[in-house]
Amino acid sequence: MNSRQFVLASRPHGFPSSENFRIENKGLDELKDNEVLLKSWFISVDPYMRGRMNNLKSYASPFEVNQPIKGNIVARVIESKSKTFTEGDIVVGILSWATYCIEKAENLRKVDTQSVPPGYYLGILGMPGLTAYFGIMDIGKPKAGETVVISGAAGAVGIVAGQIAKIQGSYVVGITGSDEKCKLLKEEFRFDEAVNYKTATIMRNVIAAVCPNGVDVYYDNVGGEITDAVIANLNFHARIALCGQISQYNNTRVSMGPAILPILLTRSILLQGFIVSNYSDRFGEAFAQLTQWVNDGTIKYKETIIHGFDKLPDAFLGLFTGKNQGKMLIETE
Ligand code: NDP
Repeated sequence: MNSRQFVLASRPHGFPSSENFRIENKGLDELKDNEVLLKSWFISVDPYMRGRMNNLKSYASPFEVNQPIKGNIVARVIESKSKTFTEGDIVVGILSWATYCIEKAENLRKVDTQSVPPGYYLGILGMPGLTAYFGIMDIGKPKAGETVVISGAAGAVGIVAGQIAKIQGSYVVGITGSDEKCKLLKEEFRFDEAVNYKTATIMRNVIAAVCPNGVDVYYDNVGGEITDAVIANLNFHARIALCGQISQYNNTRVSMGPAILPILLTRSILLQGFIVSNYSDRFGEAFAQLTQWVNDGTIKYKETIIHGFDKLPDAFLGLFTGKNQGKMLIETE
């Protein structure tokens, strides 16, 4: 059996390009006991993978040059030498960006794709949904009537974070990169207000205008000047859930901004950085709650699905230019 896989061809300096990826053919061995042969179906591209392309110490180890890129994948079991899985089962796991692969059974989890679309296990019922849940419920802790601002609001994490904040009774403002995405946030996902950061002249004033009572919770997915503008509008005892900094991931130099610590000090603000894996012992709780919200229609989700295995680098690069609404996925079939 032959498979095609993407390897990291080179490490990017600044903005990544398709040159940093290379597609290769790979022959697969015979299955051993407790292994399954998988065909990739939905492949997730995620902003954190940009960090793994660097050779730097972080919470996730760097990808190796000339070795397969790995990420979250929904796959179909084609053949099984495991007692846990049978042919036709749909599973999720952290797998190589490959058309086919062999994996040990203990690294896979079977999922039900009858009641929810398979891609949801890479989005709202996967890592992005769990991240939104813990950032809002454990760090932001919005109360009814409080104002919650979410940057990167129209993406995989942001649309879930905003809707969870709405469930808590908050007034929710999303920041995103186009008028079309602003409309989507308000009309599809119940955000009270949305701001297009690309057309806003003075962000700090625009945030003040749409948040007349100030900002109590800031869920930060992007960092940079957008975050500086929100921080200027934070209330006393505000909470910042520091989830992502996508505006900084392709920087070649550390960017300088205003010194924010005096604001945090004088307004008694909590700033908490977090990685979703900090909460791994509570994934069951979050998964159950998110599944219930999806099934009863309390939360809606959106996917941007690009067809074709070969488009994986394009889909990944598209995250940095805002090509996605909701979760960016590749469908291989
Ligand atoms: P998204 O689906 O939100 O995709 C990325 C989005 O970021 C783009 O669509 C684009 O939307 C926006 N963006 C890209 N470049 C910039 C920029 N320079 N300035 C402002 N916005 C930009 O990704 P995710 O929802 O998967 O992830 C969101 C954030 O959360 C990321 O920073 C990610 O690293 C982080 N994250 C953190 C986790 C954790 O454990 N802490 C786990 C998962 C994600 P637009 O059109 O609005 O510009």
